[in-house]
Amino acid sequence: MSRDEMHALQSEKLVKIVAHAYNNSPFYKKRFDEHGVRPEDIRSIDDIVKLPFTVKKDLRDNYPFGMMCVPMTQILRLHASSGTTGKPIVVGYVQKDLDNWSEAVARCLTAYGLGNDDMVQIAYGYGLFTGGLGAHDGVTKIGATVIPTSSGNTQKQLQLMQDFGATALACTPSYALYMAEEIRKQGLDINNFKLKVGIFGAEPWTNAMRKELEEKLHIKAFDIYGLTEISGPGVGGECECQNGTHLWEDLYYPEIIDPVTLQPVEPGQKGELVFTTLDKWGMPMIRYRTRDLTYLNYDKCDCGRTAVRMGKILGRSDDMMIIRGVNVFPSQIESILLEFPEYEPYFLIEVDRINNTDTFDIQVEVKPEFYTDQVNELVRLRQRLTSRIQSVVGIQPAIKIVQPGTIERSTGKAKRAIDHRKFVE
Ligand code: ADP
Ligand code: ZN
Repeated sequence: MSRDEMHALQSEKLVKIVAHAYNNSPFYKKRFDEHGVRPEDIRSIDDIVKLPFTVKKDLRDNYPFGMMCVPMTQILRLHASSGTTGKPIVVGYVQKDLDNWSEAVARCLTAYGLGNDDMVQIAYGYGLFTGGLGAHDGVTKIGATVIPTSSGNTQKQLQLMQDFGATALACTPSYALYMAEEIRKQGLDINNFKLKVGIFGAEPWTNAMRKELEEKLHIKAFDIYGLTEISGPGVGGECECQNGTHLWEDLYYPEIIDPVTLQPVEPGQKGELVFTTLDKWGMPMIRYRTRDLTYLNYDKCDCGRTAVRMGKILGRSDDMMIIRGVNVFPSQIESILLEFPEYEPYFLIEVDRINNTDTFDIQVEVKPEFYTDQVNELVRLRQRLTSRIQSVVGIQPAIKIVQPGTIERSTGKAKRAIDHRKFVE
């Protein structure tokens, strides 16, 4: 589609979805009214800058169903992702939303060169996380065969991958690297596998990592990008040129803004990615701030696709980290520590990647009056904190209790997390 045709299509869709959001959601009506903008003010996609932003906190404040724009009887599926504190953020889909989502994933898979003679092993987690089921519906849409292993149980994954002759593997790049390592450790011969394509995303990864995965697994590794609020994986994917991730902009309209001034940046400049869902009816997102930092390239791609390309995700404009595929916010750890009278609210998270697995270490301090040389007491205290964090955040940290006063007290912005992993070369 030419840029002009795309502009016309996006304009037509924006007018409809804005009216839908305003007329059916008390949240959006209030937000638009406060901002002094009415649906009639939106005549083309260029008018999008008149609309107010939506942020993660809005989803949390309206937990669980306050952002839905249709009666719950029309919602066919719910998914959820970690919010910035204990409560997850919840999204709901009507049939059309699920259709568009699988369409988006199908476009990615087609761009990777997959078709109905392929067999895709989905090792993204199935469940509330959008990865598993999102990829699943896309694979079904292109007529390929799904092997729905979900994540974990690596031994069995590898066995089935070999026995069934999976031609593509969908999982996080770090899990793929772990599998590659297991193949080597178990002395399996990669030539007995039929893999040719890797469908990797849900966390940032580098070209160096791509090279390693391609060499170890004898595949071509492609990026898939997405986020729960906008639908899930497949908001964009790479083509054979691997020179940027194409965004399916007739469904999910991207903008880049300056995260401080909130104004659009010059074309091609870096900033925060913002999405408006142009054809999502259960829970439309209007100018949703992803917090992901990147840039857009509108030049026609060598593959022939005209859909805009996004550069690698360069970082985030908030403090969210993705550890073993799970979103973790330092504020979650803080609020958990505050639940315990024994702990100080000071902590330091350190994340690294060792043997292809993310480490998640947290140093915490016990208040002097609870600090004891009774090792058993401290072990029990540590165990309680570990379980609490595991249940709220979803992954288990390695907690280290340090002497009172050890963690640096900051006079300015506290440094509460150090990420030693390298994402951008
Ligand atoms: P998902 O299920 O797609 O991981 P989440 O809502 O849990 O969705 O997390 C979305 C976030 O994950 C994105 O905002 C982004 O920070 C990160 N992410 C997803 N895919 C990629 C990717 N391909 N490259 C870099 N970061 C990614
Ligand atoms: Zn392309």
